Amino acid sequence: MSLRFSAINANLSKSDINYIGPTKITPLFGENVFTLKVAREYLSDEAYKSLSTSINTGKKLDRSVANQIAIGLRAWSENKGVTHFTHWFQPLTGTTAEKHDSFFTLKSDGTAIEEFDGAALVQQEPDASSFPNGGLRATFEARGYTAWDPSSPAFIMEMCNGKTLCIPTIFISYTGESLDYKAPLLKALEALNKSAVDVCNYFDKNITKVSATLGWEQEYFVIDEGLANARPDIMQCGRTVFGASPAKGQQLEDHYFGSIPDRIYTYMRDFEAEAYKLGIPLRTRHNEVAPGQFECAPIFEEVSVAVDHNTLLMDLMERVASRHQLKVLFHEKPFDGINGSGKHNNWSMSTDTGVNLLAPGKTPKTNLMFLTFFVNSIKAVHDYADLLRAAIASAGNDHRLGANEAPPAIISVFVGQYLAKVLEEVETRVGDKFDEQDEAILKLDIHKSIPELLLDNTDRNRTSPFAFTGNKFEFRAVGSSANCANAMTTLNTIMAETLKNFKHEVDSLIEKGEKKEIAILQTLQKYITHSKKVLFEGDGYSEAWHKEAKKRGLPNVPTTPKALDAMVTDKAKKIFENNGVFTLAELEARHDIELEKFIKKVQIEARVMGDLALNHIIPVAVKYQNELLNNINGLKQIGLPAKNYAVQLKIVEEISNHLQQVYNNADALVEARKVANKIEDTRTKAIAYDTDVKAKYFEILRYHVDKLEHLVCNNEWTLPKYRELLFVK
Ligand code: ADP
Ligand code: MG
Repeated sequence: MSLRFSAINANLSKSDINYIGPTKITPLFGENVFTLKVAREYLSDEAYKSLSTSINTGKKLDRSVANQIAIGLRAWSENKGVTHFTHWFQPLTGTTAEKHDSFFTLKSDGTAIEEFDGAALVQQEPDASSFPNGGLRATFEARGYTAWDPSSPAFIMEMCNGKTLCIPTIFISYTGESLDYKAPLLKALEALNKSAVDVCNYFDKNITKVSATLGWEQEYFVIDEGLANARPDIMQCGRTVFGASPAKGQQLEDHYFGSIPDRIYTYMRDFEAEAYKLGIPLRTRHNEVAPGQFECAPIFEEVSVAVDHNTLLMDLMERVASRHQLKVLFHEKPFDGINGSGKHNNWSMSTDTGVNLLAPGKTPKTNLMFLTFFVNSIKAVHDYADLLRAAIASAGNDHRLGANEAPPAIISVFVGQYLAKVLEEVETRVGDKFDEQDEAILKLDIHKSIPELLLDNTDRNRTSPFAFTGNKFEFRAVGSSANCANAMTTLNTIMAETLKNFKHEVDSLIEKGEKKEIAILQTLQKYITHSKKVLFEGDGYSEAWHKEAKKRGLPNVPTTPKALDAMVTDKAKKIFENNGVFTLAELEARHDIELEKFIKKVQIEARVMGDLALNHIIPVAVKYQNELLNNINGLKQIGLPAKNYAVQLKIVEEISNHLQQVYNNADALVEARKVANKIEDTRTKAIAYDTDVKAKYFEILRYHVDKLEHLVCNNEWTLPKYRELLFVK
């Protein structure tokens, strides 16, 4: 029996998982997190004070304090049954990394003790030479190290009855180049903080800190683990490279917000409970548009914490899934013909005085502050659309962007009818009529009508990659498997730069004797005129928009290898260096790593396609063909006329035609790969993989394989079919 049928049988005879989840969340919430409240209990006054200042200001801790904190951390975690610790970090491979060490060690005289000191807390040297580094460590220094990031709290990961203390860290080379997602993100957030506070101080001198906030919405598929294991493509690529569409896909739209299947519901409750222990504030769960697709979202948090929580959750979801004999797929396009998955990044900024800078204010003055941040966001996206596009580029996301289900690769901004009108008014009014007597701001009573209007779902545009949704922007083009740090690093850097320039312009007008409010409005007016071509209220999926965007000169780069070019332009170097986020060497290294990732992903998929074609598809098709031939021969032998086996002959012939196509295309695919592999330059190689391997052969090969799936006897087919993957619960 093929793996396909044993998996189906196993699914049919499975017993329900007896999971009794928590009945209340609050007692659970954050129980495995070394919060400041816990720290208060376990640390001396001195250590506690240092830690909390370090968290609030990003100031480095000194070694003696680190020792005290390490002792407190060990005491806390041992009380909870922890035996090992690890530096937890987010390497550029896109998942999380950890290397466990025990507290247990031997003294020089052989006595066994449990130990964890400041040195072990602060720094660790993973033997990480195999993490991608884009040549950085080779060029600069042999190894990298992980360094404790106190801004993100330590936590305990519970898995298979083992408990590990995880110390969030950044991963850097000895010469200081960042090798992970987190280090540049922290720098970008600091740059934003500085620029944003300066601008806030025009309106409120009490503001001393601005934090960017992020609320992500994670989409994912869940399928039966046994069935997933019977699909080598899912195992190795996270997506199906072949598979004929089932009769029922998502056309009935009966899955969206439908009731959650029991088995999945149990799984959700289980991973949610684990998430709560880690302080991840999950709030919503629901079905998504495609069958087998779901979404979860937390309450928003400061960006760096939200990023940690998202990567942690993805890790948890994978582990918990296997407790339920399920497999979770984060790939952007696991199945052809039905929707893929994204990860909307809801983004805003908030002040230490508790103001959401993208929420329209209640008075004209706070409205002007809102308008300032709103318009600056639009200008940032307008000026650096190419960088945002690069930040979300990946082999997986290429399947989504540009297909008619996700925002296009053209970055535009949706603001809604009402704000579009407000922008228009500011633009025209300030230009000709505005003077000191005519306090235009006072007449822009946006504070009265915006809240109801924008929070109303009807004024939403689901096709825009960057949409204003009442009190935040929603960056929708991020891929479901991505680490949001990438998008967030870029978004916050371009915002930091834009605000910095805004401040310069306003200041120079003020120096020339202009009144502050007028200087601000005039600059905003200029920005609106400058960036309004990025605003688009219509259907982002439509052909008309593609034409219109071209006319407007908006960039539209549909594939990753070329989208990544934006990372290493002079413009990119300048902005990332100016804001202390990436050095030139780091940018080039990252560019290289992203290209390499793209190449490898396409390479693996191409290999898997070749393997499946030759070892699964062709053999079963030939076998079935032989059965038909036997049948035909038998019918001939008993003397039946040709019309009695005409159908069999026709199927034999059709199978033959597709078989040849499958073989020829698989063969040509291998040859194309060989040619691409010889290319030295990474970018050229990535483009070759994209255009000469993927674009040329993937679809055509798939077409013929899927035709065979329709022709060949169901019992012979070894790969679980779409209807099983999507509907077997
Ligand atoms: P939807 O977009 O599905 O209609 P909501 O508008 O309620 O849902 O919110 C979506 C996400 O936006 C949630 O994760 C929420 O936490 C987040 N969010 C709300 N306010 C902010 C904010 N100020 N900054 C960042 N994220 C936010
Ligand atoms: Mg949303």
